[in-house]
Amino acid sequence: MAFNLPDLKYEYNSLEPHFDAKTMEIHHSKHHAGYTNNLNNAIKETNYENMSIEDILKSSDLPVGIRNNGGGFYNHCLFWSILSPNGGGEPEGKLIEAINRDFGSFENMKSEFNKAAATRFGSGWAWLCFDNGMLSICSTANQDNPLMDGQCGGTPIMGLDVWEHAYYLNYQNRRPDYINAFWSLVDWNAVENLMS
Ligand code: MN
Repeated sequence: MAFNLPDLKYEYNSLEPHFDAKTMEIHHSKHHAGYTNNLNNAIKETNYENMSIEDILKSSDLPVGIRNNGGGFYNHCLFWSILSPNGGGEPEGKLIEAINRDFGSFENMKSEFNKAAATRFGSGWAWLCFDNGMLSICSTANQDNPLMDGQCGGTPIMGLDVWEHAYYLNYQNRRPDYINAFWSLVDWNAVENLMS
């Protein structure tokens, strides 16, 4: 079984001016495609070949090539799925109820997430996770994620890529501006649908 690069549910230029079309095109068609191809090559004729991506990532003692490319494949699939040209605003329903309960307010949740994204040194991701009915925020290095052994734990329901390849063309060194732009694109219905 090979993993496939997912099509985006919007055009490369649909997320402008927040995420520019050139960055989106390179990010999806080069970076994400690369992780996908490298993952397929790395699992070929191994015990991982017929496992789900989640089960691969949860495996202990993952070979480094499968860890990096499997994480890259999964993380970007999640990232694209929680973005929308019609995103932004505030969450509703059971998601805002859980945010208010676990962080005190939507603003507090954003503030904690911004801090996780801004303070991740070098390349990595910030995450909102849901586990045992509770929301939590953390960050991971490189293409690691909370599903992996020894990481922060929980099921990611929202992720933000803070690798420079995600923002450098448009924002250069201004990672905080990129993080701020992200909030205009979050598809809160998609995030809520990942709570289970
Ligand atoms: Mn990326």
